[in-house]
Amino acid sequence: MSHIGRSTIPTPQNEPVRAYAPQSPERARIQAELDRQAGLELEVPLRINGQAVTTGKFEDMVMPHRHSHRLGRVHQATSENVTAAIAAAEAARPAWAALPFEERAAVFLRAATLLQERFRDRLNASTMLNQSKTVHQAEIDSACELVDFFTFNLHFLERIYAEQPRSTPGVWNRSEYRPLDGFVFAASPFNFTSIAANLCAAPAMCGNTVVWKPGPTAMLSAHYVMDLFEAAGLPPGVINMVPGDPATVGGQIMRDPKLGGVHFTGSTATFKLLWRQVAENLDHYACYPRVVGETGGKDFVVAHPSADAQALGIALLRGAFEYQGQKCSAASRAYIPSNLWPQVKAILEGGIAEMKVGDVRDFSNFMGAVIDARAYAKHSGAIEAAKKAVGQGVVEILGGQHDDREGWFIHPTVIVVDDPKYVTMREELFGPILTLYVYPEAEFEDTLELCDQTSPYGLTGAIFAEERSAVDLAVQKLRFAAGNFYVNDKPTGAVVGQQPFGGTRASGTNDKAGSMWNLLRWLSPRTIKENLAPPHAWTYPFLAADES
Ligand code: NAD
Repeated sequence: MSHIGRSTIPTPQNEPVRAYAPQSPERARIQAELDRQAGLELEVPLRINGQAVTTGKFEDMVMPHRHSHRLGRVHQATSENVTAAIAAAEAARPAWAALPFEERAAVFLRAATLLQERFRDRLNASTMLNQSKTVHQAEIDSACELVDFFTFNLHFLERIYAEQPRSTPGVWNRSEYRPLDGFVFAASPFNFTSIAANLCAAPAMCGNTVVWKPGPTAMLSAHYVMDLFEAAGLPPGVINMVPGDPATVGGQIMRDPKLGGVHFTGSTATFKLLWRQVAENLDHYACYPRVVGETGGKDFVVAHPSADAQALGIALLRGAFEYQGQKCSAASRAYIPSNLWPQVKAILEGGIAEMKVGDVRDFSNFMGAVIDARAYAKHSGAIEAAKKAVGQGVVEILGGQHDDREGWFIHPTVIVVDDPKYVTMREELFGPILTLYVYPEAEFEDTLELCDQTSPYGLTGAIFAEERSAVDLAVQKLRFAAGNFYVNDKPTGAVVGQQPFGGTRASGTNDKAGSMWNLLRWLSPRTIKENLAPPHAWTYPFLAADES
């Protein structure tokens, strides 16, 4: 804390979402920035100790919605680069950890302020072009959520620092919230620029230093995130970026004896691998690394026969298809009572027919492309398999078009099943594909049981009902089925400071990104007891002889 005086972090406010309506100044500005970035052939370097490092070994960055368009290329880290990045993080650690909180906080307050104006278009446009988000999806991610992560986390951290033990007469007890005794490895997914930046920023604001391996298909925004940190005054070596082959770069970092923590968001399979690597290397580490992972989901919507069918249908359309279903929280399985199905089906069919899919630079498109050829193959394969399974667990398919000639486009799709354990009711696809089971309306309670037991995940879920007793029953029965539970709302769109985010079961360690629970994982408290009047004799009163 401060050497003189006691300052406070400014009260955070959620960053307002800009509309980008026709004729608005923000629309004109982002379109100009999209043109600018699309016209560049950027070379993205590594960032080690505040320096741009090039290797001459490249991977391309493309637009998923126009995959022939190369946005640039990314230098790939070698083993020597990874060693240098770890060394830089370790060298920067003592001075960064010793800096008063106000000085560290100022860097992230400045990053938030820069992002509100100067960097807003840069980050939004790169997220649109390279990750194929519409302008609205980019705005709520790389602008609003990231500003909120910076400002709210500082406020939460201040509250943690204020938490102190009791003292008694003659004794002063203190808690000092040290950073970890080793660097943090941040490995980020492709789907949220804000998550990627926060995986680095949250440990860093606690006084840790970081080695960051971004997702290979989200490198354009990662590049501008590093520019933002540097423009905000982050000292060299505090966050080091090493793009490269995930297994090679990741494997080397995970073996390092100074690994203090792993901050991961991505798939369940990768997280399990990282956890196994921690276990394998336990004998080499200087301490037990903190392992935080937010992973996959098979997020559900359950409707009761009393539900508002219109609200339910809209929640399914938005919850399942926005950002092409590539949100860990996206609705990907639904349980609809037979009495509501005709009305809900009409809403879904209407939405699917109207939703335009295409280049995100055309603002009339509701959806862009899925992230890469591998995702396209997986989703188109699941749709074709479902078409073949009609009559064998699958009833019918709504939508189901796909086309990868220009971009990796998967159109919004609903697989209607009569086998509630059909493969896509259980396994995460991470695309715009909703699997839906129509249950006999009298079997609501059994359906809650079914929902709870069908998939290994426990991330997000929603209940739609007008009857309060049905809401209550769902809240009880689905207690462990979701870490973020919604009543009469879609299961996506958690806001920092309002709905702390994370799940359990196969969905992660539930450390709630954007809350003080997450920050606690990057702190290692030291308790300091000071005796203000230490005893001068070793004897206790009970030792004295009884008076005769
Ligand atoms: P991914 O697991 O493929 O990749 C995540 C990161 O791990 C990337 O940086 C990747 O390069 C890295 N990685 C891969 N193999 C590695 C290895 N062997 N060693 C070290 N690092 C390695 O995930 P993705 O496709 O980028 O993201 C999609 C997944 O993320 C989905 O499953 C989604 O549900 C999940 N997700 C979860 C949340 C959440 O909060 N729960 C949020 C966003 C995304």
